[in-house]
Amino acid sequence: MKIHEFQAKSLFCEAGIAVPESIVAKSGEEAAAAFDKLGGPIAVVKAQIHAGGRGKGTLTQIPEQHGVELVKSADDARRVAENLLGNDLVTIQTGPAGQTVNQVLVEAGCDIARELYLGIVVDRGAGKPVLMVSTEGGMDIEKVAEETPELIFKEAYDPDAGLMPYQSRKLAKKLGLSGTSVRSADKFMRAICKLFVKLDCSLAEINPLVVTGDGDLIALDAKITFDDNAMFRHKDLLELRDTAEEDANELRAGEADLSYVQLEGNIGCLVNGAGLAMSTMDIIKLHGGEPSNFLDVGGGANVDQVTEAFRILLGDKNVKAVLVNIFGGIMQCTTIANAVLEAYKQVGFNIPLVVRLEGTEVEEGRKILAESDVDIITAEGLTDAAKKVVAAIA
Ligand code: ADP
Ligand code: MG
Repeated sequence: MKIHEFQAKSLFCEAGIAVPESIVAKSGEEAAAAFDKLGGPIAVVKAQIHAGGRGKGTLTQIPEQHGVELVKSADDARRVAENLLGNDLVTIQTGPAGQTVNQVLVEAGCDIARELYLGIVVDRGAGKPVLMVSTEGGMDIEKVAEETPELIFKEAYDPDAGLMPYQSRKLAKKLGLSGTSVRSADKFMRAICKLFVKLDCSLAEINPLVVTGDGDLIALDAKITFDDNAMFRHKDLLELRDTAEEDANELRAGEADLSYVQLEGNIGCLVNGAGLAMSTMDIIKLHGGEPSNFLDVGGGANVDQVTEAFRILLGDKNVKAVLVNIFGGIMQCTTIANAVLEAYKQVGFNIPLVVRLEGTEVEEGRKILAESDVDIITAEGLTDAAKKVVAAIA
């Protein structure tokens, strides 16, 4: 689960991690009032969407307006907020349609001496969280990792003991910090490492992490992703969820307990088991097609869930054909066959449907489909299924 910058910053603040003073605004008027309340000569108006790259991103409706802008008056703050609110911001992380800005953060302008990078992820190999810092802050960190990996410094830390003082000193030295900044960095790094574990994050990222003119460290940006598997331990954090930022199909699938990931191709996939779903996508691509989604209906899905899965696939305008690939282990092929008929009754199919069934109750399942009046292309095995579905839309 992702959250907004302003929400992450408020969690940082509670954990003693320095952030600039800021106020959320949902109208031009509120933004102007926020500017006055902050009282500084300079503030920054920042679009709040679940994606980074806002500073360089632009609105589809107003191409000259970026997602982060420095303002020097209340009127300026109002103008920028009114530009952003209700419009769609496109960044390198959003896709071409962009994401609608529903709120902005008006933040006190910060005196920036240096822009650093800080990130924490779980290193599955080490079985520990790993703190990463870089001198190359404010930039696309993936690019830094690719072109100058020697400028990224890492320390894996024990989740119980937290980051050790010697580790933060080591990283501070690599970042070229000195004097009071070393103490500031130690406090900052240890606090964020602790927060990462306490809140079961899968990602925490501060880009840029700023060294101010006074030598203090402060988080200018804040990104947090929580591990969905741990959300049952953090009921209070669930309130931070903003479903307006989530993909509509993924949201629907989540409500039906289906694992679904939206992709950009045109072949809808309905598969059971994550491994089979991955290989189905691979084999579709091998034969020249593009999957429109990853969908794992799971081992024990019932007719209702599978019917809902069909509804989601058929509701996607990009989908030009559907491939059902089921290996019945716990799942019975008859469940899938009945769901196909049920979905046909409820939603109708006007696109080709290729079905490959194997496993438990396969004969009965095939019989149900053969005896129905639904137009189905049957396939034997994975390769045949992929070839047929790619041919169906050619
Ligand atoms: P994004 O990563 O989505 O582009 P950031 O929050 O990192 O958004 O902001 C982009 C840039 O805007 C930062 O790298 C920084 O240079 C500048 N910036 C952001 N917040 C402030 C602030 N409070 N004061 C001064 N400059 C800021
Ligand atoms: Mg940033």
